[in-house]
Amino acid sequence: MKAPRFHYVRPESLDATLGLLAEYGEDARILAGGQSLMPTLNMRLSQPKVLIDINRIEALKGIAVHDGMVRIGALARHVEVMNSPIVAEALPLIAEAMPHVAHVAVRNRGTFGGSIALADPSAEMPACILALGASVVVDGVRGRRTIAADDFFIGLYETAREPDELLVEVLLPPQKPGHVSVFMELSRRHGDFAIAGIACHARVAGGVINDARLAYFGSEAKPVLGTRTMAILNGKAWPTASNEVVNAALDEDLDPIGNTFGSPATKLHLQKVLTRRVLDAAVQRARAP
Ligand SMILES: Cc1cc2nc3c(=O)[nH]c(=O)nc-3n(C[C@H](O)[C@H](O)[C@H](O)COP(=O)(O)OP(=O)(O)OC[C@H]3O[C@@H](n4cnc5c(N)ncnc54)[C@H](O)[C@@H]3O)c2cc1C
Repeated sequence: MKAPRFHYVRPESLDATLGLLAEYGEDARILAGGQSLMPTLNMRLSQPKVLIDINRIEALKGIAVHDGMVRIGALARHVEVMNSPIVAEALPLIAEAMPHVAHVAVRNRGTFGGSIALADPSAEMPACILALGASVVVDGVRGRRTIAADDFFIGLYETAREPDELLVEVLLPPQKPGHVSVFMELSRRHGDFAIAGIACHARVAGGVINDARLAYFGSEAKPVLGTRTMAILNGKAWPTASNEVVNAALDEDLDPIGNTFGSPATKLHLQKVLTRRVLDAAVQRARAP
């Protein structure tokens, strides 16, 4: 099918973009990498009146360290994030996860901001920024807001961003000494969206896990933190924390949605298996010289 008719605008500045968003609101869609938007237009799942192409806005580009935080601009392409020395050094969780995002052609155009704004429940980057306790910065004519990742993902493709707001950047705390990151997902083929997955960030010393943040994706309507599981793991040596206790906590934390890739029970089982693998890997990585 072909996309429905739409107007196309390519503003040269952030202010002009925010003005257009204020004018058109729900009738407008931001065009970033177009890797998700264009297929939905072609399938007529979305029929916006106006496409606002943000690709010329310099203020949305780049990856840098500023005030002790890593700033990833909304327009940073997946491939830039994947090859960034800053990300490799300060955000090993993102560096490990990014090769799982789609394939080379999609990563060459798709953007970090587009992935976070879209909030696909099986996408890797939303889970990573949740695990890392990052913040999402949105801007609009009514002002700029910084939203904790914990509060950003609301439901299926639903976020705290209002229709007249643009996602401008994500601010991520660099990994501190003594912390480890582990990313794992199960998908039918490498590069496919995940059937189940976990992004994990924790402080680990002598096999004891503290301050773990486990973000589950692929199984729920949105990425979710395993809050009860995180609480029972805190201060415990792994793997001495019993499997039954961890499994019971996951039964409370997760409420998977079935789809063509698995029933709710299958997805819950896969997340439990992945949890054990992720925690084993976290302890091993902390021990590695
Ligand atoms: C074959 C294929 C496989 C894929 N596999 C994966 C995968 O395994 N994992 C994964 O995570 N993704 C996958 N993707 C999606 C890909 O990562 C997209 O690049 C990403 O989801 C959206 O980024 P984009 O820049 O292309 O956004 P676009 O397609 O341009 O936009 C997506 C949505 O976000 C909105 N948007 C974009 N940027 C902003 C902004 N700055 N502010 C506000 N709203 C904005 C748009 O209006 C639109 O609604 C796949 C895509 C394809 C085509």
